Amino acid sequence: MTTGAETWEAVIGLEIHVQLSTRTKMFCGCELSFGDPPNTHVCPICLGHPGVLPVTNEKAIEYATRIALALDCHIAPRTIFHRKNYFYPDLPKAYQISQYDLPLGLAGHLDVEMEDGSMFRVGITRVHMEEDAGKLVHAGGIAGRIAGADYSLVDFNRGGTPLVEIVTEPDITTPDQARAFLTQLRSLVQQLGVSDVNMEEGSLRCDANVSVRHPGEPFGTKTELKNMNSFRFLHRGLEAEIERQIDTIEFGGRVVQETIHFDPATGKVSSLRSKEEAHDYRYFPEPDLPPVELDAEYVDKVRASLPELPAARKERLVDQHGLTGKEAALLAANKSLGDYFETLAGATGDARTSVNWVLGDLSAYLNVSGHEVADCPVQPAALAELLALLKDGTLSGKMAKEVFEAMCETRKPAADIVAEKGLGQISDTSALEAIVARVVEANPGPAEEFRQGRDKVLGFFVGQIMKETKGQANPGLVNELLRKHLQKG
Ligand code: ADP
Ligand code: ZN
Ligand code: MG
Repeated sequence: MTTGAETWEAVIGLEIHVQLSTRTKMFCGCELSFGDPPNTHVCPICLGHPGVLPVTNEKAIEYATRIALALDCHIAPRTIFHRKNYFYPDLPKAYQISQYDLPLGLAGHLDVEMEDGSMFRVGITRVHMEEDAGKLVHAGGIAGRIAGADYSLVDFNRGGTPLVEIVTEPDITTPDQARAFLTQLRSLVQQLGVSDVNMEEGSLRCDANVSVRHPGEPFGTKTELKNMNSFRFLHRGLEAEIERQIDTIEFGGRVVQETIHFDPATGKVSSLRSKEEAHDYRYFPEPDLPPVELDAEYVDKVRASLPELPAARKERLVDQHGLTGKEAALLAANKSLGDYFETLAGATGDARTSVNWVLGDLSAYLNVSGHEVADCPVQPAALAELLALLKDGTLSGKMAKEVFEAMCETRKPAADIVAEKGLGQISDTSALEAIVARVVEANPGPAEEFRQGRDKVLGFFVGQIMKETKGQANPGLVNELLRKHLQKG
């Protein structure tokens, strides 16, 4: 970007927390819950009572390994947990079990596609495991104060939930790229089946580190935007913070390393607190947990269990079904939509028509209705029946759209709707032939003109037949039959 005479470039690195969807917590047997009454999923371990011993959840290790492998990380054959010490009321042990200098995964990458089809690569510095903290509920907000309440409550249900933290290299240079990266990371993790990755519910959280510099210069001082809880806030927060940093420097100031709060209501950024350094946390190895040793056999097994990942699927959709890169990218980014397409293409044998419908009418319907693919009232088999009626000429393109809408509303099969609405194109040769014969006979003048070579008259006859059939005659067939009849004369 350019302001005044100067050209600026942003440098962005993201730290992403993914809540794993294991059945139980990271180090105890409490079930994970979202939305249950407060403090109903707690035990002495996740409440940090003295003398208890944590036990590592193997499923969480497997899920974390899946994420690290999908990001092409090197998996450490031996990793350990550390205690990250700090006090906060949502952290009863006064330390978080995390990983420090021996993370599970190192040095991976994710290739990200922008909307215009261009690609860029984001290095993944590390992927590590840790546990979540509890949640503070502030009753002392304005509403609380009116009700006479001015205190905070703490809910430990979330405390001890397994998290995976993904740290990127500072390879991102624009808010658009940051959003595209996070969108594609989300889709990847979702397809691994290890998390709900829902930003609104907090199972996907993102902190953004950002600095600015003139191109070619060393990195500037970074600030950190905490807890961007939607794709839009991430984008807007970065835009606002980049602008603030550029202004600061251009007006002769200096960017200081700090944590920044973005207020979505005002669109403004403000300083939250100066940043803590790693040594503030007094990290030390967790003495109550054995190291996690993952041998090559284990890693290979997890790798073999990964589903087809979006990048591979995209390529296959292009090769196998002849889709464009853009179509394939859209389908690969959304597993259930991709599955829908492949089932439909299999049923119809016509990938082109199938992709047009899936990305066209079907996607439009899903967007407007808010339905997920899974609960879409028109599943692939039903849509295939509709497309068969389109293909054999029973329905025109316009009619098919109308029938599709009715199918969405009523969940009835296409054939039933066609019958109810009396919609079908008349493609029955004998039925049409009778009409054609009648119309030709009733108009001897124009018929003679046609035989004299005035081809244009054909349009007059087509019009007459469309009128008789209320527009439902199959136009191709009408043309064919008319020529036959007129020539016979
Ligand atoms: P810290 O020691 O402050 O935690 P790290 O080097 O561990 O910093 O990096 C944390 C995150 O910040 C990473 O995502 C990294 O890519 C990003 N980052 C590091 N330096 C910069 C910078 N100068 N500008 C923007 N982002 C940066
Ligand atoms: Zn517990
Ligand atoms: Mg760091």
